[in-house]
Amino acid sequence: MGTLTELFAPERIAVVGATAREGSIGRAVTSNLIADYDGTIIPVNPNYDEVLDLPCVDGVGEADADMAVIVVPPKIVLPALEEAGEAGVTNVVVITAGFGETGSDGASREQELKEIAAEYDMDLVGPNSLGIMSTSNGMNASFGPENAEPGSMSFMSQSGAFITAVLDWANDEGMGFKDVASLGNKAVLDETDFVDHWGDDDDTDVIIGYLEGISSGRDFIDTAREVTQDTPIVLVKSGRTDAGAQAASSHTGTIAGSEQAYEAGLDQAGVLRAESVQELFDAAQMLANQPVPDSNEVAVITNAGGPGVMSTDAVGDADLEMASFEQETLDTFSEQLPPEGNIYNPVDIVGDADVDRFSEALDIALADDNVGSAMVLSCPTAVLDYEQLAEETVKMREKHGKPVAACFMGGESVDESAELLSDAGIPNYFDPSRAIDALDSLWEYRQIQRREYDAPADFDVDREAAREILERVEDRPDNRLGVEAMGLLEAYGIPMPDSEIVDSPEDAREVAERIEGDVVMKIVSPDILHKSDIGGVKVGVSDDEVEDAFEDLITRARNYQPDANLLGVQVQEMSDLDAGTETIVGMNRDPQFGPLMMFGLGGIFVEVLEDTTFRVAPVSETEAREMTEEIKTAPLLRGARGRDPADIDGIVETIQRLSQLVADFPAIMEFDINPLVATPDGVDAVDIRLTVDPEEL
Ligand code: ADP
Ligand code: MG
Repeated sequence: MGTLTELFAPERIAVVGATAREGSIGRAVTSNLIADYDGTIIPVNPNYDEVLDLPCVDGVGEADADMAVIVVPPKIVLPALEEAGEAGVTNVVVITAGFGETGSDGASREQELKEIAAEYDMDLVGPNSLGIMSTSNGMNASFGPENAEPGSMSFMSQSGAFITAVLDWANDEGMGFKDVASLGNKAVLDETDFVDHWGDDDDTDVIIGYLEGISSGRDFIDTAREVTQDTPIVLVKSGRTDAGAQAASSHTGTIAGSEQAYEAGLDQAGVLRAESVQELFDAAQMLANQPVPDSNEVAVITNAGGPGVMSTDAVGDADLEMASFEQETLDTFSEQLPPEGNIYNPVDIVGDADVDRFSEALDIALADDNVGSAMVLSCPTAVLDYEQLAEETVKMREKHGKPVAACFMGGESVDESAELLSDAGIPNYFDPSRAIDALDSLWEYRQIQRREYDAPADFDVDREAAREILERVEDRPDNRLGVEAMGLLEAYGIPMPDSEIVDSPEDAREVAERIEGDVVMKIVSPDILHKSDIGGVKVGVSDDEVEDAFEDLITRARNYQPDANLLGVQVQEMSDLDAGTETIVGMNRDPQFGPLMMFGLGGIFVEVLEDTTFRVAPVSETEAREMTEEIKTAPLLRGARGRDPADIDGIVETIQRLSQLVADFPAIMEFDINPLVATPDGVDAVDIRLTVDPEEL
């Protein structure tokens, strides 16, 4: 039983604003309910005694309802809601538009609506919603033109219009739904609530959705992670919000936009992401009807060479592999197939194959332990009866309990067999690559189910020291901190080279003499973001050169910006760049998902190379390690071309520690360690830059 069970299975629905007026939404909702709903409908409208032959009451308080659908004009929604609350109705669908989506008046009305909903502890859908449906009780509490057919997918959409289009099409395709919800403005209930509910709903096998945004990213991740252990979620996400608009003042800030956040967040949530509506339903249908495979190896049984090769290519593009058969399977194929056939995958059973040969080959392939799933790929021939082939395909799927996709190619000749297949939950596609993609989503889901989510580590850190450093922005004209704040790294246990900031050539020399070997000297100023761009970084300075270098750095900074706020010069121990790789570890705060960690190849070319990867913080050790493994240049870190491997554990720990820092301090809006030099002996954070929102401190 899910948390929104009453919302989807009410016994008495009050339609507040019901009317028989042609073309009105009030009429559409009332008649949609009348069509199939098992429960009682109570029209509410003080102007009528009857609406569409149903007795009408003056106020929702008289309806004794357990759910209210509100379709009255915007100005009287709030009083109606208040009245519903007084009457103890806690399940409410507000269809009326004219709220947050329409400017400041609407926004304040929506705020009030939220307050009323909170006061009465309502489960409220909308406002600006098309409505909701549940096929289990025939409830169509929406103003859409079609009711859904029964099925096991539950569907949420941020666009009401999209629901009407999908239902129209799905009804043609014979695709059914358990529940449908138009989220509207998501003033109270949002995608996380529905995912949470359907995750506990026994009649929902797959959750699908069309979203334009996610209200609270971290909650969504945490909820979806649990749900996707049993119930797959497939989402199309569109309408990329412009998070990059906020000051793009650091590397991570310029690279980590909201699209990166969604990609990372949805992946961490265990959600399958579809790029198109077709992909959404291809995946959803497979997931709703077929078992999940135990291996990613696919067997292709075909009577046509060309399409067989196409399927091999499609498998190559997916996370799947062409199955390699066990010897026993190969022997059986040799005995059974004509000599001109191919016993290796894709198994070519030759153009004259009849249904028996197809069925037998499929039987043999599915019996092979290596084979996780199979595809029947056929072209029409005079000796092949497609309907019988469909029946045999279904039979073999049942016999072996492994997923099977069908690709019966052709036009009209396929129709009947496709219907037979579809009734058994086997979608038929013309295009082999679509069938393979659908199988791929099953495999992808299998891996999500196998995931184990470990909790983020909790390092012993000095939070107070970090806070003191961050508070320094309060005395400054801007909110940026640079290497003068490297104490933050120390407080959070992130290794860095020995360094000091000085304000005279003499002090510079003293520090340089204390530090072994040559040093690096850098200008320190919040006004100079990219120090090396203005010649503000000198690498390999010997003790004798230090004083001149100091003067030179100050002169360069003054030339660049005469009134620049100069905090001094940093004298820093050299990191071994020859033995090391420059990486970047950063964070940018996303409006929906919060802190988004970035890892990539660093140094001064980050933006050019853009070899980066993202995770929503706080990240676990597993997630941090995945980040180091999935960038394109990961082989460089692992020690390509005779180089010694870098200290990857050190990088992983740095990502985790920075993740903890930014989770501890919501005031940190952006953070960059660039570069984090990773050598075989360890890691060194040699440069940092961050922006802080003093209001959040
Ligand atoms: P910025 O990014 O503002 O230009 P950095 O401090 O990152 O300044 O320095 C720029 C480059 O100089 C680094 O990417 C690195 O190649 C080199 N560098 C900086 N500090 C050191 C150091 N301590 N040891 C070795 N190389 C360094
Ligand atoms: Mg730098």
